[in-house]
Amino acid sequence: MPDYLHSLSFGTSITPANAKPGGAPALARFSEQLGYNLVTFQDHPYQPAFHDTWTLLTWVAAVTERIHVAPNVLSIPMRPPAVTARAAASLDLLSGGRFDLALGAGAFWDAIEAMGVRRLTPGQAVDALGEAIDVMRGIWAAGERAPLRLSGTYHHVNGAKRGPAPAHDIPVWIGAYKPKMQRLIGRKGDGWLPSTSYLKPGELRTGMRIIDEAAVEAGRDPREIRRLLNVSGTFARDGRGFLDGPGTQWVEDLLPYALEDGVSTFILASDDPASLQRFAEEVAPALREAVARERGGDGGGPTLRSTAVRAARRPGIAYDDVPATLASAAVEPGDARYSRVKSTYIRGGSPGLVLQVRDAAEVADALAFAREHPALPLGVRSGGHGISGRSTNDGGIVIDVSALNTIEVMDKRTRRVRIGPGARWADVAQALAPHGWALSSGDYGGVGVGGLATAGGVGWLAREHGLTIDHLRAADIVLADGRTVHASAEENPDLFWAVRGAGANFGIVVSFEFEVDVVGDVAWAQLVFDASDTAQFLKSWSAVVEAAPRDLTSNLVLGGRRRGRPVYAQVLAVVDSDDPDTVLDRLKPFAGIAPLLDQSIQIVPYAAVMANVRDGGHDGQGEPHAHSGLVEHITPEFAAEAAELIDTGAAYFFQIRSVGGAVSDVPPDATAYANRSANFSVVAFGTNASGLDQRWERLRRHFAGMYLSFETGLDPERIDIAFPGDTLTRLRALKERYDPENVFRDNFNVLGATP
Ligand SMILES: Cc1cc2nc3c(=O)[nH]c(=O)nc-3n(C[C@H](O)[C@H](O)[C@H](O)COP(=O)(O)OP(=O)(O)OC[C@H]3O[C@@H](n4cnc5c(N)ncnc54)[C@H](O)[C@@H]3O)c2cc1C
Repeated sequence: MPDYLHSLSFGTSITPANAKPGGAPALARFSEQLGYNLVTFQDHPYQPAFHDTWTLLTWVAAVTERIHVAPNVLSIPMRPPAVTARAAASLDLLSGGRFDLALGAGAFWDAIEAMGVRRLTPGQAVDALGEAIDVMRGIWAAGERAPLRLSGTYHHVNGAKRGPAPAHDIPVWIGAYKPKMQRLIGRKGDGWLPSTSYLKPGELRTGMRIIDEAAVEAGRDPREIRRLLNVSGTFARDGRGFLDGPGTQWVEDLLPYALEDGVSTFILASDDPASLQRFAEEVAPALREAVARERGGDGGGPTLRSTAVRAARRPGIAYDDVPATLASAAVEPGDARYSRVKSTYIRGGSPGLVLQVRDAAEVADALAFAREHPALPLGVRSGGHGISGRSTNDGGIVIDVSALNTIEVMDKRTRRVRIGPGARWADVAQALAPHGWALSSGDYGGVGVGGLATAGGVGWLAREHGLTIDHLRAADIVLADGRTVHASAEENPDLFWAVRGAGANFGIVVSFEFEVDVVGDVAWAQLVFDASDTAQFLKSWSAVVEAAPRDLTSNLVLGGRRRGRPVYAQVLAVVDSDDPDTVLDRLKPFAGIAPLLDQSIQIVPYAAVMANVRDGGHDGQGEPHAHSGLVEHITPEFAAEAAELIDTGAAYFFQIRSVGGAVSDVPPDATAYANRSANFSVVAFGTNASGLDQRWERLRRHFAGMYLSFETGLDPERIDIAFPGDTLTRLRALKERYDPENVFRDNFNVLGATP
């Protein structure tokens, strides 16, 4: 009999009742403490002595952190499959990808019928289960555009909305004993989950054969199907029989199941804490070791992906060589969760492989794997809001560090905070608020720390507190060669200099240390003006901003002119004060610059200003087309030409942000972000067809550099502008030292290579 070479995992099966010692949730937590991979509960919704299994699973997922949860097995006749699919995806998302699904066709039909569900014969129940699986997989296929329509004998779905995609590809395991069910597993299942107590001698082996044959007949590889087994027994001092003796005997009894039958997940059914502990300490590790020994050191790997998923693979990627440490991190185009990770906020993508890493060691592993594919594009993704940075691609690899998103206070006295690259600025603001602190960031809460804090960071506190990078005190960076180095003013100071403005070129930052500021409630102003005299408006607005104390930072956004309607300008501003008189003093000068059409001014926590984020995956499409320029002052000439650009409709989004103030206090050579003299940062989004490039060329003479985060052009000339003079020379020398093979090239690349 084959050994399917799956790595071993261990679970517990706990009675879904509180009557047992400590109650089911306590035993689930204990299972987690003991290192089990999985905790499961039987499902008998007709049984009043038990908790409803679904509710219990949700509860347990909420009170645990690492362990997977699963029904064992879910009575599918009692659960409408479309709703079950959505509930499963929700629980998987809420638990961070820890829900696995084991299904049963239904037993105890008298009890099921008593609950108002139509009785099926065993044969019908198997067919109904097959249809239910199709429905569930159809719902999870969030990437499919067409609504789900399936017309079966038992289940009909007529135009159901797809999604959400679960957080991981939820495996569908099936509890079964009869050949018809086993053939269904071969055709559609991801695992077989019988119990030793129901199996007669030889039935396990026969079942494996039937499943394998059905799998091959359906064009599948039997290794796609994990083999699980519920086991129960007694721990005793002396060996008394099968699974009735000391731990060594358990190992001896279970080893043949692993090596000869291919069972790779053993689930101990017990509510006895002592037995759970002995199994975890005496059986699981010894069994793992014995299996690895017999396999000649190969501890096995993950379950092979399905034939359909393998068929969707892109050329040039050695998918089967993804290291075991990254098995659960790897998302392929055929995976249900791919729709969640393929695109970014602003850019459509179709990468061949996304590696969702969880720590620095996994980043290094992912990088090593990516480096074995030097011809492929390599994206690095934190918050997925890159405009210049390409954090998705077509057919390449993406290393996604969004899970490295912790925010922790290191030292209250010095306001030193450690933040992971995957944290979003809304979360950072929220976490710092209780301390009365804030970190100067961007203006949008959904943007990630990784991309912004390696490039600059122009936001609502810019004039008063400078750029985000000006608050960076240290960073841990995984370099191209896989080493993790600490960079600060004392350690690797040249790298620390480079990371503050050109970070994407030098490695993957896995942790940032910032010194944050004391910021309490702020005034948040949203004003709408008639800016039909656009040039005059730009001049007047900029004059107010330049004359204001640094506690005011403002942005303005202009759309194109529409026939018969005025040009509207939206002016947004933060005043870092909760004193109404100060706020009025700062904002009043705006009131006279043009007809004011609407206004709202609130005193709110800074975190409330940053809470402007929508949750869920990114679904950007196409390629953004944007240009950036920094100007010292909005001169009459600049204002006239900018107004012309807006008038022609060359930009569908035109924005000017205030910088200057504290941003300009930092000497240009102190960080790789060198364009420090400007008071304003200008960005325009348009299209190739809209004529933005030509219009922008005409504005170029006004610019004193640019901010790379808002520039999509990658030609060498733009690199020169973003990193002027000696900055670029120094960056290139450092690139030679830290990334000689230009591994980190699919961004605003200091070597000027175009992706
Ligand atoms: C809606 C929106 C609003 C914005 N507002 C502002 C703003 O107010 N102020 C501002 O300054 N910018 C702003 N930006 C620009 C933003 O700062 C950049 O696009 C930034 O790169 C996004 O970071 P991210 O982590 O979300 O992006 P990602 O797409 O994840 O990354 C972008 C690039 O950054 C690099 N990168 C990402 N993570 C790391 C890492 N851990 N280590 C090294 N390099 C990394 C990679 O090269 C990557 O391609 C905005 C962008 C958008 C789309």
